[in-house]
Amino acid sequence: MSRAFNFSAGPAVLPEEVLKATSQAVYDFNGLGMSIMEMSHRSKEYDAVIKEAQANCLKIMNLSPDEYVVLFLGGGASTQFYMVPFNFLNKKANYINTGVWSTKAIKEASKVGEVNVIASAKDTNFNYIPKTYKVDDDADYLHITTNNTIYGTEWKKDPEGVKIPLVADMSSDFFAVRRDFSKYDLIYGGAQKNVGPAGVTVIIIKRSFLETRQRPLENFPSMLDYKVHVKGNSMFNTPPCLPIYVVGETFKWILNRGLEAIEENNIKKANVLYTAMDESDGFYTPAVTAKEDRSLMNVTFRIKGGNDDLEAKFVAEARSRYNMANLKGHRDVGGLRASIYNACPIEWVEALVKFMKEFRNENK
Ligand SMILES: *Cc1c(COP(=O)(O)O)cnc(C)c1O
Repeated sequence: MSRAFNFSAGPAVLPEEVLKATSQAVYDFNGLGMSIMEMSHRSKEYDAVIKEAQANCLKIMNLSPDEYVVLFLGGGASTQFYMVPFNFLNKKANYINTGVWSTKAIKEASKVGEVNVIASAKDTNFNYIPKTYKVDDDADYLHITTNNTIYGTEWKKDPEGVKIPLVADMSSDFFAVRRDFSKYDLIYGGAQKNVGPAGVTVIIIKRSFLETRQRPLENFPSMLDYKVHVKGNSMFNTPPCLPIYVVGETFKWILNRGLEAIEENNIKKANVLYTAMDESDGFYTPAVTAKEDRSLMNVTFRIKGGNDDLEAKFVAEARSRYNMANLKGHRDVGGLRASIYNACPIEWVEALVKFMKEFRNENK
């Protein structure tokens, strides 16, 4: 089989080694004569899988298991939009709005309590990350979205001087860039962008943050209670067994390389692509003009400032000539988007740039 150059925003490309290990485990896990899908999540073999994945998650993030706990839950990042405020919003919460996903998180939090959106990039169609904002000292937490999958902006630096708990949706850039993860009290993300298949959400919670939770417990639905899931070690109910296995294999792949090397490679890839656009005499223009905020993961761009016909032709010819897939931008933004997550090799980006030059010569 020859692999397509897959630039999907999510579910997205996974390392071949991970796919191969998973195919084996789907048929016969560890020579047990059973698929990983056919065995009890309470078995000692599966227990080892989930425990190792949790330990490796913290290892990659350089966090101590004494201070942080890892959950693997269903429901997608979208369930966390509600679960975070449901557990932690007492008085009010602060949110920074940097795109479609932040907007959805704000909408869900508003159903639980008072939300103060302390900064927003909505006025310019989310093409930058707000740098000035004032955090309410009496808010329960500040929520940010570190990488904006749809618009293509990314927080390159962690917010500084935040004195209240910090919560982040890192769906599309966790395990891709280094951060000071110890600054965060709760991190969540759907696996399907960078670390696995859809169906599992990775949640990393600071134990002390959870302990200070004040929301009253009566009538608290068990499935929405982080404490219940921590107590059950992510097995309060049947967890998404197969997706967790895949995430565990991806964590091993990341640990083998090291997050620093992965980040370096991601920076290199993004540079190749953005440089090609900057040197295209305006034929290709990045949607994000604030260079420092351009995402390393989702590169959004237009042709001739937004020519729908040429963009459609670009998508079609990329596919028919070189088997490059999923370059169409999100319907809310239009244009083109190349998602170049961890498992996308630099050779794919170089091939894309080569095609971009060819296409530009033919369509000047
Ligand atoms: C994809 C995405 C989501 C939504 O994740 P689901 O798992 O589909 O709920 C949320 N936030 C960000 C930043 C995303 O990229």
